[in-house]
Amino acid sequence: MSYDAQDQPNGCETRNPGAAVDPALFLDCVHCGLCTSACPTFAELGDENDGPRGRVQLMRLVAEGRSGLTDRMRRHLELCLDCRSCETACPSGVQYGRMIEPFRLAVQENDERIEQRYDWFREMILLQLFPYAQRMRRLLAPVRFLQRIGVYRAAEKLGLMKLIPGRLGRMIPLLPPPIKSGPKLPKFLPAVGRKRARVAFFVGCVADAMFRHTHWATLRVLQENGCDIVIPQGQGCCGAIHYHAGDGLGARRMADANLVAFELDRYDAIVVNHAGCGAMMKEYGEHWHDGLQPHREKFAAKVMDVHEFLDQLGAIPPSGRIDEVATYHDACHLGHAQEITEAPRRLLSKIPGLQLRELPETEICCGSAGTYNLNEAEMSDRLARRKLENILSTGARIVLVANAGCLLQIGREVRQNGHPLLVMHPMDLLDLSYRGEQPG
Ligand code: SF4
Ligand code: SF4
Repeated sequence: MSYDAQDQPNGCETRNPGAAVDPALFLDCVHCGLCTSACPTFAELGDENDGPRGRVQLMRLVAEGRSGLTDRMRRHLELCLDCRSCETACPSGVQYGRMIEPFRLAVQENDERIEQRYDWFREMILLQLFPYAQRMRRLLAPVRFLQRIGVYRAAEKLGLMKLIPGRLGRMIPLLPPPIKSGPKLPKFLPAVGRKRARVAFFVGCVADAMFRHTHWATLRVLQENGCDIVIPQGQGCCGAIHYHAGDGLGARRMADANLVAFELDRYDAIVVNHAGCGAMMKEYGEHWHDGLQPHREKFAAKVMDVHEFLDQLGAIPPSGRIDEVATYHDACHLGHAQEITEAPRRLLSKIPGLQLRELPETEICCGSAGTYNLNEAEMSDRLARRKLENILSTGARIVLVANAGCLLQIGREVRQNGHPLLVMHPMDLLDLSYRGEQPG
């Protein structure tokens, strides 16, 4: 790995962003390079600086004051998807996410250039729209109308969407076709049959605005498995969007609102069905260090991904036959950040008739990565193409993925390339099997 001596620090940071990282974490890396082949950006670019070992070293150089943060170094770090694939590949237990996340947050918070420049997309779309399901639903209503009368699809076919500039132009094609999403979620749903657990359900923001049908499917699956379900009304976004957009304070406010909304002692678990939210909430205890820390840790300990929860509970097998070939993509924030890979496969294997084919490079990010697909168009598109090629190689008709961002990203890639693939959440398919219905 090398960086150019002439490449001088840009001088825009007022503090060393490396100070935000626990220095002991850097020492875990023994530079073995076993993580390198697991890194999507290294796989695409072949540059050590765009791989985990290189990035750890770059952050360490800055943290130890051996180099200022140059524009080139910063670019290598920006290009990281924070997919955490390197963490599961690393035999030394390097906690890469605990380095890159605070480091990048500090870079953004310290950067005087950012303060001088008003980024309307970040402020209005990322921070004021995405984390609020109700606002999103209202804003999407006219777009949904255009979708229903076919104008949207026609514009897509004519390539008119490509005329919309910037991140807005990247965002609009992600919108999935309209689907019957069901009514507002109730406050409580009772178990079907013998009660086996009492859980709270986390609703989220983008997941609720775009995938409420998946929430309903998840709730029905939980009911079928003997769960009483409480849906606390005061809950909101998990805070991941703010956190990854460099607004640590906003993220903390979101997290703390959820601490108030969920009465922890009343449930066996807080169940989450989208990987990004689950990963964020499981890490509530690590991001901030103030008087609420013990409460956040207690909250985080109750959070369970729905596959993890059902697998541990012992899922009741559904009986509806689904004679289809499917493949499962490991969402980074489920497979890497939460290390949940077998539970979804075990659950899906209970569906009679379903043939589950392993996806080549399943552990490699699809390029969604939170808002990465809006900010890093080129790399995101390369990874989306790579993912689609791998999916097609399986011959599956159904792609299963347990995260809102991946559902949007893979869904867009499939539509834009005209493939007749169904992109679904595993809970959608399980629900159909419990109800004796067919996909598509
Ligand atoms: S992050 Fe882990 S796998 Fe990668 S070089 Fe360091 S010790 Fe090796
Ligand atoms: S988080 Fe993902 S993109 Fe970033 S260094 Fe690790 S493997 Fe590579």
